[in-house]
Amino acid sequence: MTELTCGVGECVNNAKGKCCLPGIAVGGPNAGDAKQTFCSNFSEVQSASSAVCDRPMENLAIRCEAEHCSYNTGGRCDADHVDIRTTSESGWPEKTECATFRQESGTE
Ligand code: SF4
Ligand code: SF4
Repeated sequence: MTELTCGVGECVNNAKGKCCLPGIAVGGPNAGDAKQTFCSNFSEVQSASSAVCDRPMENLAIRCEAEHCSYNTGGRCDADHVDIRTTSESGWPEKTECATFRQESGTE
């Protein structure tokens, strides 16, 4: 289980910087840096009434496609702490990224 903070305030699953889901999936199978990853569970708030999250999780399970991240062990994230945030890349189709991504050594 991983402690997760999330700065994506426009996601329906976000409450006070935490995620309300018991687990998330991070995508970006060929990611070589953080901006090429994304939270697959992101769902944009459409109206104030669509924000349903009110029980943020302290720890959750993370499946992850980013096989070049050093925290990825067989498709699971084994980092103690993960930060999801709004993407730093303008024009990138995904709105989120895993800021904790760390390139494994020897793959650059
Ligand atoms: S972007 Fe992902 S981690 Fe963040 S609140 Fe939404 S579902 Fe949870
Ligand atoms: S830290 Fe690495 S393994 Fe964990 S969710 Fe982020 S990109 Fe995936």
